[in-house]
Amino acid sequence: MSTVERIRKYGYRKWYERQLVESHLYLVTLVLALIVVVAGLELLSEPTSRFELLYDGLLVVGGGCLGWVCLRRYAQMMMVAEHVGSQAVCPACQRDGFRPVPENESGSLGRPLQFVASCRGCGTRWSIDTGA
Ligand SMILES: [Zn+2]
Repeated sequence: MSTVERIRKYGYRKWYERQLVESHLYLVTLVLALIVVVAGLELLSEPTSRFELLYDGLLVVGGGCLGWVCLRRYAQMMMVAEHVGSQAVCPACQRDGFRPVPENESGSLGRPLQFVASCRGCGTRWSIDTGA
């Protein structure tokens, strides 16, 4: 499901909240993966058999790969949240937040990453580019 579809489904505030919670779960997983890497490095310093050496090496490589994926996902989700959040203020009354206008009311903007937002206060409409 794309960012535009998720914002339309949950609304801006719930989408933003979910975006932050999910991205921070990736951050916690990154920290746990780093602990696995450090533990694997510690175990690698005193291998007792070839099997243990292989197992410890897999811990380091697996933890490193998991950490890399989590870091990229965390950064990407935070950048999208920041990008959309910076456009979430009504240009007319400066009220924060918006209501996504359904596609059948606003029509297609011709770009799949954009959608029309409507101010909850004054009803002004403007387009928001999700960029992802
Ligand atoms: Zn407004």
